[in-house]
Amino acid sequence: MLEILPKSGGAVSRVKATCDDCQRGEVIPCEITRASGGVWSANEGQAHAKLRGQGWSIVKGKLRCMTCEAKRKARNAPPVPVAVQAVAGTDKGPTREQKREILELLQVSYDADAGRYRGADTDGTVAEAVRGALPGWVADLRAEFFGEGGGNEAAGQYADDLAALRQRCSDAFAAVEADFEALKGKVDQARAVRDDLAKLEVRYASLAKSFDRRVGAKVGGGK
Ligand SMILES: [Zn+2]
Repeated sequence: MLEILPKSGGAVSRVKATCDDCQRGEVIPCEITRASGGVWSANEGQAHAKLRGQGWSIVKGKLRCMTCEAKRKARNAPPVPVAVQAVAGTDKGPTREQKREILELLQVSYDADAGRYRGADTDGTVAEAVRGALPGWVADLRAEFFGEGGGNEAAGQYADDLAALRQRCSDAFAAVEADFEALKGKVDQARAVRDDLAKLEVRYASLAKSFDRRVGAKVGGGK
C-alpha cells in the first residue's frame, strides 16, 4: 500500500510504500497534489513506476518488494516438463553444420547494436529454422558472438506500449480518486450544513410553541 508522508516546509514530497506480503517499507520521492477539497493525493503512477524501477511489482493492486515478487514468481512458475529435461540432459551441442547455419541466421535476424533480435525473432524461432537445433544452442552462440540480450524489437515495443498504458491507467485512476475524495469532502460539508439547519428548525419550533402558549394564556386570562 501507498501512504502519503506529511510534508514540512520545503521538503520533497514523499510516499511510503509497504510490501503487502512482508510489510517491508520503502520511502520514495513522489509528486503529491492537493485537491480542491483539501485532500492530499499522491501521483500513484509515478510512485508505481519508481517502485517498479527498484524491482517492486504491482499485481492486481498488490504491492510487493523485490524479494516477495521473486517468491511469488517462483510459486507461479510452471514445473519444467520432463521431456525438456531429458533432451537437455542428452544435449551434445550443435554439429559444425548446425552451428554455421545458426550463425548465418543470427547475422540477419539479430541487431547487435540494439542488443536484441529484429522484429519478432527469438532464440526459439532461429532454432526452429535449423533442423534438429535447440533454442539453448542458439542462446549460447548468440550470447558469444552477437549479444547477451535475448529479447526482440516486437517485445520491446509491447513492453513500452504496456508501460505507457499502465502509466495512463494509473494516472486516470489517481485523477478520478482525487476528484472523488474532493467530492466526498463537499458532501460532508453539505451534510453538516443540513444538520445545523435541522437543529435550528427544532429549536425554532419549540420556541414558537412556548411563545404561542404564553400568548394563549394571556388572551385566556384577560376574559
Ligand atoms: Zn516483501
